[in-house]
Amino acid sequence: MERISLDQSALQAVDEYCEYRRIVGEDDGGTLFTPQQYEEYKRRVVPRRIQNRLYVSYGVAGGLDCKLIGPETPCFCTHRYKQHQSEYEELPTQRPLVLPCHVHGCPCSQYQYVPQMGSRPVRCRCKHLPEEHEATMGHLCSRCSSCRGFYSPSTCGCGQPYSAHRTLVESRQERQARGAPLGWDVPYAAMGGLTGYSSLMDGYLRLDSSGAGHTGNTCDCPCWSKARCSTRTTILNHQMLNSGSEEEIYLMYQSRAHDKDRESPNPPKSENISSPSAEGTHL
Ligand SMILES: [Zn+2]
Ligand SMILES: [Zn+2]
Ligand SMILES: [Zn+2]
Ligand SMILES: [Zn+2]
Ligand SMILES: [Zn+2]
Repeated sequence: MERISLDQSALQAVDEYCEYRRIVGEDDGGTLFTPQQYEEYKRRVVPRRIQNRLYVSYGVAGGLDCKLIGPETPCFCTHRYKQHQSEYEELPTQRPLVLPCHVHGCPCSQYQYVPQMGSRPVRCRCKHLPEEHEATMGHLCSRCSSCRGFYSPSTCGCGQPYSAHRTLVESRQERQARGAPLGWDVPYAAMGGLTGYSSLMDGYLRLDSSGAGHTGNTCDCPCWSKARCSTRTTILNHQMLNSGSEEEIYLMYQSRAHDKDRESPNPPKSENISSPSAEGTHL
């Protein structure tokens, strides 16, 4: 792997760019906003985004959230969650909330998670992969005529068949009423159901039912130290320019939460704070 050294100001620029992309997404139409336009965008969009956040999860009604959907989680149509409608200026009253794909020419009318078996998506009982089925509702197979629509006969780690699962889109109020965590208020687009570090794991592997990780005064970031967080995040943000895994996005999200802690009058106590190191020796 090639190693590129960046000085502090370059790292900061990378951070700012990543942050910009996570906040603005493709709303700038491909031309970077001027600093004034960016500030105006944040003033106009972010409070509404936080208020109207849509939480997306996959599971059996009344059971665990087997998978929490993040910006990079693929849909049945193969496009990522962030490429779908992920917010509304005003939340519609009808349910289910409809999140069509915004990729030009894609017929997908509703974000729908496809479970994975290891690194591959599950197959239909006709033996063909999800992408060999139509992206339109009904999901008929394009490789065979016997398939009456995508149907996975496999069982999820939670013990229930995948066919009993559904992708759920909830408002803040609806998620709260279910006793599920809301997470920190973050300005990023398409955060879906990510509310804590353990959100990245499958429901049956998490040590909590909700995906919120530790709550209260304990940091649930893998670095266990506020002081180290920004360094780690900077390096990961640099990698994120090319990759963009959910874990990296989450670390950025975590660093935001830490900033919040620092601003609060009674910051939660954290053990094991070491001096920040620009080299990121723990990586
Ligand atoms: Zn889709
Ligand atoms: Zn699509
Ligand atoms: Zn088929
Ligand atoms: Zn099929
Ligand atoms: Zn399940």
